Amino acid sequence: MGRVYNFSAGPAVLPESVLKEAADEMLDYKGSGMSVMEMSHRSKVYDGIIKEAEADLRKLMNIPDNYKVLFLQGGASLVFASVPMNLMKNKKAGYILTGQWAKKAFQEAKIYGEAVELASSADETFSYIPDCSDLPITDDMDYVYICENNTIYGTKFWTLPDTKGKILVADQSSCFLSEPVDVTRYGMIYAGVQKNVGPAGVQVVIIREDLITDDVLPGTPTMMKYKTHADNDSLYNTPPCYGIYICGKVFKWILDMGGLEAMKAHNEKKAKILYDFLDSSKLFKGTVRKEDRSLMNVPFVTGNEELDAKFVKEATEAGFVNLKGHRTVGGMRASIYNAMPMEGVEKLVEFMKKFEEANA
Ligand SMILES: *Cc1c(COP(=O)(O)O)cnc(C)c1O
Repeated sequence: MGRVYNFSAGPAVLPESVLKEAADEMLDYKGSGMSVMEMSHRSKVYDGIIKEAEADLRKLMNIPDNYKVLFLQGGASLVFASVPMNLMKNKKAGYILTGQWAKKAFQEAKIYGEAVELASSADETFSYIPDCSDLPITDDMDYVYICENNTIYGTKFWTLPDTKGKILVADQSSCFLSEPVDVTRYGMIYAGVQKNVGPAGVQVVIIREDLITDDVLPGTPTMMKYKTHADNDSLYNTPPCYGIYICGKVFKWILDMGGLEAMKAHNEKKAKILYDFLDSSKLFKGTVRKEDRSLMNVPFVTGNEELDAKFVKEATEAGFVNLKGHRTVGGMRASIYNAMPMEGVEKLVEFMKKFEEANA
């Protein structure tokens, strides 16, 4: 069996050219006589890899000099704790609850201080983004937290909340590098890379320099302090070397594609094919309010659980895999990250049309 169309929400599809390059370099990275997996993170060769990855990410996102880029480990879920540990100086922060990942971050923050729910879309199964134009933000809050793209529910903040002067912290795990971002609007952006950029185990943190201090919550482990990693250019200890190397390749792939403007145009075109079909279909329906739809994660249902299961089974047999919806939502979800080719979405829609005819 060859490569399938992989609609997984994460770990997810990566560019084939990146995987091939990594395969070519597996035994001997550029004449070093060893794999990147085998080399010292203190070596000159590896230093080149991590520096180039950072430089390419800075170029892609146009990251200003007063922001640090950190390559850390532990996944996005560990950041749910490191954010309050590092940023909750007043022990109070506001959270906007737009799905499970935001909720988990909110619950984690409660361990460290007062986490306040500013808005929520739980009343309609997180199928929309709440109005965030006038939130009950108080002066003593350290930051406002959002999950910018909700991987499970398929919603996206197309307008950032009015934080009333407080810094914005955003989990961009599932929309990272899918479109241009104005970094200056955030105090901190972070992403677990396994959705759009690389292998699980790496988290990218982009944080404004003045927020990196020694003034962290008592008991914060050395490894959880952003200052530890910022002072050591992400090489305080052994970083997830191989994962960072793959991320670096994906950054270059996006640069070659024309950068984030081009990526966004590509993603919009791709998502439109699927959303247009869902809007015209008599069998399949999208589950998200139209203006809040994600370009990356597209949940849909037939309205009949048995038919949903039949669709997932037949789609899998036809080479469209990982379309089953999240266990908390049911139905289907197509994750169409950067590396999902246009053709993958076109063929999926063709398959859905045939399924609809056969099951009318
Ligand atoms: C997947 C995901 C996470 C959790 O990532 P882990 O690396 O498994 O901890 C957090 N936030 C968002 C938005 C995600 O999509």
